[in-house]
Amino acid sequence: MSETEKPSNFIRHIIDDDLKANKNKGRVATRFPPEPNGYLHIGHAKSICLNFGIAKDYKGTCNLRFDDTNPHKENVEFVDAIKTDVKWLGFDWDERLYFASDYFEQLNDYAVQLIKKGKAYVCDLNAEQIREYRGTLTAPGKDSPYRDRSVDENLDLFARMRAGEFKDGEKVLRAKIDMASPNINLRDPTIYRIRHGVIHHQTGEAWCIYPMYDFTHCISDAIEGITHSICTLEFEDHRPLYDWFLNELQTEHHPQQIEFSRLNLEYTVTSKRKLTALVEEGHVEGWDDPRMPTIAGLRRRGFSPASIREFCDRIGVTKSDNCIEMGVLESCIREDLNETAPRRMAVLNPLKIVITNYPEGQSEEVESANHPQNPDMGSRKLLFTREVYIDREDFREEANKKFKRLVFGKEVRLRNAYVIRCDEVIKDAQGEIIELHCSYDADTLGHNPEGRKVKGVIHWVSVEHAIPAEVRLYDRLFNHPNPDSTEGDYHDHLNPDSLLTLTQCMIEPALGEAKSGEVFQFEREGYFCVDTEHLRDGKAVFNRTVTLRDTWAKLEEKE
Ligand code: ATP
Ligand code: MG
Repeated sequence: MSETEKPSNFIRHIIDDDLKANKNKGRVATRFPPEPNGYLHIGHAKSICLNFGIAKDYKGTCNLRFDDTNPHKENVEFVDAIKTDVKWLGFDWDERLYFASDYFEQLNDYAVQLIKKGKAYVCDLNAEQIREYRGTLTAPGKDSPYRDRSVDENLDLFARMRAGEFKDGEKVLRAKIDMASPNINLRDPTIYRIRHGVIHHQTGEAWCIYPMYDFTHCISDAIEGITHSICTLEFEDHRPLYDWFLNELQTEHHPQQIEFSRLNLEYTVTSKRKLTALVEEGHVEGWDDPRMPTIAGLRRRGFSPASIREFCDRIGVTKSDNCIEMGVLESCIREDLNETAPRRMAVLNPLKIVITNYPEGQSEEVESANHPQNPDMGSRKLLFTREVYIDREDFREEANKKFKRLVFGKEVRLRNAYVIRCDEVIKDAQGEIIELHCSYDADTLGHNPEGRKVKGVIHWVSVEHAIPAEVRLYDRLFNHPNPDSTEGDYHDHLNPDSLLTLTQCMIEPALGEAKSGEVFQFEREGYFCVDTEHLRDGKAVFNRTVTLRDTWAKLEEKE
């Protein structure tokens, strides 16, 4: 799908209709509203592509707004990481960077307005009592004994809450709606709570009362003149509350909320709480661990922004809950890298070969194309020598015809170089193969002589010129497609083999100049990205982005 033909969806249909009806005077304004309490993940990417994508296509605007009402869970590291990730994905909020905390004074004024209208009251019930009074899905709640406080008393108490006269939890401000409403969100929800001793990353110690998310979110959207407040389905039941606030407060703008289904991805979790736990409990190296479904993790793994945008286009936007196969994400990056990644040779499990009839001390240059279909990507010269490494997996002492690699007594082609035959297998005292002695056919450089068919082609590097590297083979973090939805704990499904570190790899010299973030196809092995750490103990470090084929699909078929 090309970037210019975005697939339509029900949200775009709503906007099309709104534009036809000249609603909002033809203006389209969206926002992406993360809470800075963790790093962004692939689910957020869906929301980012949707909100920024709509703004772009309808020549509207999309704000980046931090919904920062929970200071004890938020911090500047998360604010910065979120900004980096949105930019990296290819979107720009221009000068429209906002924080809900920018509106704390206005929100306070709005709360005072509600009190003056008799639509909010200060309540002395503690958290547990509030829960008790709230009722259940089947039973109505009951009124708080503080519900009928006078406007003056409420104004006085709310001002004193702000002034710091009360302890945490001693009082809250609640909207006065309906304790018998079938929608629990409307049973006099708390709109302000007291939080002493926290330092807010934006407002410092200026406040000891903080507005609740529901109150803040819809008013922030209204203040910013958002036309379409796009959010995930779990907020459908909050919409009547948002509409109640905005109607009572007669805000100038009244954004229309539209809900869509969250992205769930197989073999991973996208709950920020669970991702935070994986980091804090040390199951992964950090938020940018290449196994994490975070944008930072995917970046370090070698995913391109275009592949993630393509993924978001492919999965579409609907109202039905679904769980996307990991294979969909992987094929997006595989297709991208197939076109863009230069080819290189790297031997992950080296086995030394001595070509006994090749002169000692001689080396010759063999030309290697950087991409089999794209000559514009150029070529490089590899040095062929008497001693080369091949992968252990590419040799068998005995094998049937299906094994098109090197077999004792048989021939194989070393890519871009010569045909060799294995004459002798050298083993150590334990019977472990330590070296192969082969002979080469000098007439076979880069082509098969007439009448000779050598089907197998394997990759190699020169012993003399190769550089050592560490290669990390990443696999799925969980070994269950829905680690969340099973009985028991998601920890039970952590894949113990999600990281395999190979420390003895040998890579071709051209890879020595590769920079962090660059991605290559290691021929016959997969796509690999230079890690951000780049060098460990003097060795280059590569992360496997994705295998060449979907090996999991095959496994699943078998099961
Ligand atoms: P939290 O529980 O911390 O609120 P959250 O996943 O809702 O977690 P936010 O920072 O509030 O995180 O999310 C910002 C925006 O991203 C919201 O508009 C939310 O609806 C959207 N979003 C979050 N997760 C997904 C997901 N899995 N799929 C699509 N959109 C998502
Ligand atoms: Mg949220």
